[in-house]
Amino acid sequence: MSGILVVGAGQAGFQAAASLRESGFAGPLTLVGEEAQPPYQRPPLSKAYLAGKTDARGLLLRQETFCAEHAITRRRARATGIDRTERRVRLEDGQSLAYDHLILATGTRNRALPVPGADLAGVHGLRTLDEADALKSALEHARQIVVVGAGFIGLDFAAVCAARGLSVTVIEAADRVMARAVSPETSAAFRDFHEASGVTILFGAGVSAVEGADGRVAAVTLADGKSLPADLVLVGIGVVPNQELAEAAGLPVHDGIVVDAFLATADPAISAIGDGARFPTRFAAGLPHGDRVRIESVQNAVDQGRCLAARLTGRPSAYDAVPWFWSDQGPRKLQIAGLGSPGDASVLRRAGAGFSVFRFRDGRLSAVESVDRPADHMAARRIIAAGRSLTPDQAADPAFDLKALATA
Ligand SMILES: Cc1cc2nc3c(=O)[nH]c(=O)nc-3n(C[C@H](O)[C@H](O)[C@H](O)COP(=O)(O)OP(=O)(O)OC[C@H]3O[C@@H](n4cnc5c(N)ncnc54)[C@H](O)[C@@H]3O)c2cc1C
Repeated sequence: MSGILVVGAGQAGFQAAASLRESGFAGPLTLVGEEAQPPYQRPPLSKAYLAGKTDARGLLLRQETFCAEHAITRRRARATGIDRTERRVRLEDGQSLAYDHLILATGTRNRALPVPGADLAGVHGLRTLDEADALKSALEHARQIVVVGAGFIGLDFAAVCAARGLSVTVIEAADRVMARAVSPETSAAFRDFHEASGVTILFGAGVSAVEGADGRVAAVTLADGKSLPADLVLVGIGVVPNQELAEAAGLPVHDGIVVDAFLATADPAISAIGDGARFPTRFAAGLPHGDRVRIESVQNAVDQGRCLAARLTGRPSAYDAVPWFWSDQGPRKLQIAGLGSPGDASVLRRAGAGFSVFRFRDGRLSAVESVDRPADHMAARRIIAAGRSLTPDQAADPAFDLKALATA
């Protein structure tokens, strides 16, 4: 018996391995990952870790001894190919590992800034602990910081810099922050928050080059010719899925490794989970790009790891978890339940300090964005999961009992 081989030792791959053992899988189990560190959480990299509020040990998903204690063989290596006929995975050191079932949990990598000078010293990305360490030490000496992209990671980072009293300018091509992920109302609230904290945000702006002096970044040139002095640049313009292994093995890919509702690829001996997998879900109904999605969130990575482990230990069920996500930007907590899209209608519910934006698509509740309203978020998750009917008038009425609807 060759057992189960997991490629990618991040949030999803580690969860699958841990859940396999918790579900009673007793066969050989190997976790292959190219990063040096034991499996760790990424969200604090752009928040508490960068701000010095937690150290590398505080990021670990489980104690360092977990894999050894649960007979999970950890192998530090990059997987370079899959032989589906022989059921073997090739590693970059020339060795290969056999499998009965292969789990691809390879995640994503940062999208590169496609302009001259993007490879200068002082231009950073943020996805791995190594990158966070590089950024953290660069921050010690940085005075003028430019962030390219007002998405979650760029804004998390801008908030950390502003809290340290550093000058930060965020360059964003769209006309609002987090435009792909949230409603105009939530964008506006976070724009106000960041600007009030001292962050400058330039909208409708593009980067045409990064200028250097003595091999280091010195300025960022915008598409309109303006030049922003910079000694540290963070590029946060999204990610691309690590799908090359699957693609080269002849498995369908389409902005992600394509899987069915049970997270299986076209090859029944290979499954894919996490940020790099594109899967069908009822929560994507009515989205402009069809009913298959690729979701970049801890919830999705963890729930898919668990769902797959259950199938591989004899308890198959279609993956049907409600998508949810959070982002801490300075003191503000954004929580999102469901899958909104830019065309969805918005209804604002305001009570106390925070607010929630209820989004409706084709007359049905599609997503709820809550800012400092954790009770709304928890209720929304249950309402969306159960497919309960909620009208826009009920959503807007602060006296309407969301919790009662959620638990009915
Ligand atoms: C800075 C940052 C902040 C974030 N903040 C939040 C947040 O606030 N809330 C939230 O919900 N989510 C957040 N996320 C997203 C969340 O961390 C991801 O959704 C989650 O890590 C996805 O898990 P994954 O296992 O699919 O991918 P990853 O965790 O990226 O793991 C994939 C692993 O596979 C490895 N790998 C890839 N190819 C190979 C190969 N060929 N051979 C061997 N190893 C390979 C990679 O090196 C990597 O270690 C954040 C992400 C980042 C980077």
